Amino acid sequence: MGFLYMDKYYLVLVVPAMILALYAQFKVTSTYKKFSEVRNVRGITGAQAAAQVLSFYGINDVQIRPIGGNLTDNYNPRTKVLSLSQANYSGTSIAAVGVACHEVGHAIQHSTDYYPIKVRSALVPVTKIGSMAGIPLAVLGAVLGFSPLITIGLMLYSLVAIFQFVTLPVEFNASNRAIKAIEEMGLLYEDETQSAQKVLSAAALTYVASLVVSLANLLRLFLRFNNRR
Ligand SMILES: [Zn+2]
Repeated sequence: MGFLYMDKYYLVLVVPAMILALYAQFKVTSTYKKFSEVRNVRGITGAQAAAQVLSFYGINDVQIRPIGGNLTDNYNPRTKVLSLSQANYSGTSIAAVGVACHEVGHAIQHSTDYYPIKVRSALVPVTKIGSMAGIPLAVLGAVLGFSPLITIGLMLYSLVAIFQFVTLPVEFNASNRAIKAIEEMGLLYEDETQSAQKVLSAAALTYVASLVVSLANLLRLFLRFNNRR
């Protein structure tokens, strides 16, 4: 397995991608921290904002619950539970309203049968197989000197990148819906909305960075395995 680690492709492809991912992580953490410390003028909590937006869109079967951890906020379409981390659930910050409305954006996507989210859900099981079996199969193919197995392995592994690619429109759309709802309903003032947008844009960058890391890994593996043939 040693040949899977340090090589020139790793240095020119994977390392820069990982630096981008680290930057994205830093950016979302610092932007979120900044605006989670700024109270919104109307003094509404994330949970209140989420409830108002849900009812504005006529969605009455979604439960809003607090969840432990930091930035663990998510929407589960199967249970129809919208979970908000404690700071966003009961906090009255600009960030709390932004993140809560983003999660509502996902709930709206499900209730309106937004197409990319269906594709994304359908990809979950195959992506799991691809991420677990792809690299071991490719390595086995390399060890056995059987190149079709390498190709199959790398194609399976590329499902991870496809999944991350489909995640992008889903995440960007949820944030667009959030900002639109915040503006239409006047949940935040104009400059506050811009700040909420900054938090959501920083979060979106982490999804872009994850895709770039996957693509860098994939390209490197293709080049690496090709050189061995
Ligand atoms: Zn999201």
